[in-house]
Amino acid sequence: MISAGEALALVLRDLRLLDSERVALADAAGRVLAADVISDRDVPPFRNSAMDGYALRSEDASGADLPIRLRVLEVVGAGSMPTLRVETGTATQIMTGSVMPDGADAVVKVEDTEVDDDHVVIRQGCVAGANVRLPGEDVRQGDTVLKAGRQLRPADVGLLASLSCARVQVRRQPVVAVLATGDELVDVDQPLTPGKIVNSNAYTLAAAVREAGGVPKVFGIVHDTRAALREAFAEALTADMVLSTGGVSMGVFDLVRETLAALDVKELFWKIAQKPGKPLTFGLRGSTPVFGLPGNPVSSLVCFYVYVRPALRAMLGLAQLHLPVVDATADEDIKVAESMTEFVRCTLSGPSGSYRVRVTGTQSSGVLRSMSLGDALLVSPAGRGAIKSGDSVRVMLIGERPGSTPPV
Ligand code: AMP
Ligand code: MG
Repeated sequence: MISAGEALALVLRDLRLLDSERVALADAAGRVLAADVISDRDVPPFRNSAMDGYALRSEDASGADLPIRLRVLEVVGAGSMPTLRVETGTATQIMTGSVMPDGADAVVKVEDTEVDDDHVVIRQGCVAGANVRLPGEDVRQGDTVLKAGRQLRPADVGLLASLSCARVQVRRQPVVAVLATGDELVDVDQPLTPGKIVNSNAYTLAAAVREAGGVPKVFGIVHDTRAALREAFAEALTADMVLSTGGVSMGVFDLVRETLAALDVKELFWKIAQKPGKPLTFGLRGSTPVFGLPGNPVSSLVCFYVYVRPALRAMLGLAQLHLPVVDATADEDIKVAESMTEFVRCTLSGPSGSYRVRVTGTQSSGVLRSMSLGDALLVSPAGRGAIKSGDSVRVMLIGERPGSTPPV
């Protein structure tokens, strides 16, 4: 059996970057840039005013002879071009964002002036460059403004708009086949006859795939027969990644591994020294990663967060592969397995930077509620004994963080 760390390294070792596509800028938020974006222009493109006020020659308003009277040449609104040059003794009324007229090198804000017929009285002195925004102050032509691998945030989208990037080259979203195996499964809208359970895994995993930036392709329930498994997996293997649940343990009807082998999926490992999620299997067919996740709802989702999500993010070209892992303090004694890595579902309390963690209750891998209640997975490495209240622990954040306070 391999360790959790070895398994994660194997998963990430041979993944291929997805190809890219062009999307409209309006659809680009959250997508991952496939190429660096280099600015073809200065932003702002021209010298403009940072204030509503008067553009003038600073030498006119720098002396001790304030206030002074200047003749107003014209009014220039944002979006129009000045037509007259500002000479000594004159000024142009100007708005925030208006093009600075030639001859002027400063703007005195309107609050420091007074209208006097066709003149303006300037009460405040100014220096050259005051309230003037220079071309290229935001972005210079030739600057790399965004790098490949960047997941686009709202400000990035705006920045791209300011460069007239109407379409953006981004990574294609991976199509992820989701396949739930098991004769005991029925779908959410089917009657729950004796011995059956609802197929929750397909819904959990589809949601998790979507949250991770993939597009789930959910297959119907697959029965535990060689023929049904073979047919479903053969089709699933046309996706960018395959996730199945169930059928990878030691039961008589656990036929997923042999099915995958028959379909030329090269198994890289089966069984990890971890709890939950020990029977996880991972293989590749060509460059297509295939995860045979355990059937237990908690195990499959824990494996998703620890192994599948980083794989998806690597295929998307993201640098940050893993969920945040932070230090925290145990708020109670916590029993953990000694011989393997254990992921314990926990709630967090206390301020960020000094979280305290408590177990969400029963840790049976069938109890999905423990994941729903959990804000974090406490990661207890193999070899670590029992955790005592007050001990320092590491937790991976999977949910809401506590202590959200208003910023102002
Ligand atoms: P298996 O790995 O197939 O032996 O399944 C382990 C446990 O997980 C069994 O109790 C199954 O009933 C349960 N299970 C398997 N698949 C699902 C599923 N899609 N949704 C909910 N529970 C499942
Ligand atoms: Mg099964």
